[in-house]
Amino acid sequence: MPPTPVDPWTGFLQWLSTILIPDWNGLIGLLPLLLIVGVVGPGLSLLVLYWLYNRLNEKRGKVRLDDPQPIALSANTDGTYTYPPNVPYCTTHHLLYPPTAHECDIDRGDLLVRCPVDDTVRPAGQQLCRTCGTRYQLGASLAPVVVRRGGTPPAGGAAVA
Ligand SMILES: [Zn+2]
Ligand SMILES: [Zn+2]
Repeated sequence: MPPTPVDPWTGFLQWLSTILIPDWNGLIGLLPLLLIVGVVGPGLSLLVLYWLYNRLNEKRGKVRLDDPQPIALSANTDGTYTYPPNVPYCTTHHLLYPPTAHECDIDRGDLLVRCPVDDTVRPAGQQLCRTCGTRYQLGASLAPVVVRRGGTPPAGGAAVA
């Protein structure tokens, strides 16, 4: 008897079975890979989330709107310093401080502030110029944006009527 030729339908079914019946050896070989993807993947994404969470917290902790750093003032060509009016400054370290500051961060010395009207220098803690009687509320314009996180409220400053 001549061998019966495989009809196309049977051939198709045989071909289909090679696709549908899983190749178990191949799958077992893939298991470590699946483990890596299944375990390390979520772990990594958790790590990334944790890192992002820490980054956010760090940033939030660093934002201190009410406590800007003092600005170093550069000397004039003749070695003197010109301090802008209405800005507290330290004559020892030549630093310009935010309007709410009253003492130097370095040596806790009193800051001075210059009157814009008559150039009288007074302690930064004083709101009133003793010469012209003008009252300058240092830092008043900052009041709406001051966000203080768990510190003491600004000393003096905005409480002047
Ligand atoms: Zn100083
Ligand atoms: Zn004055």
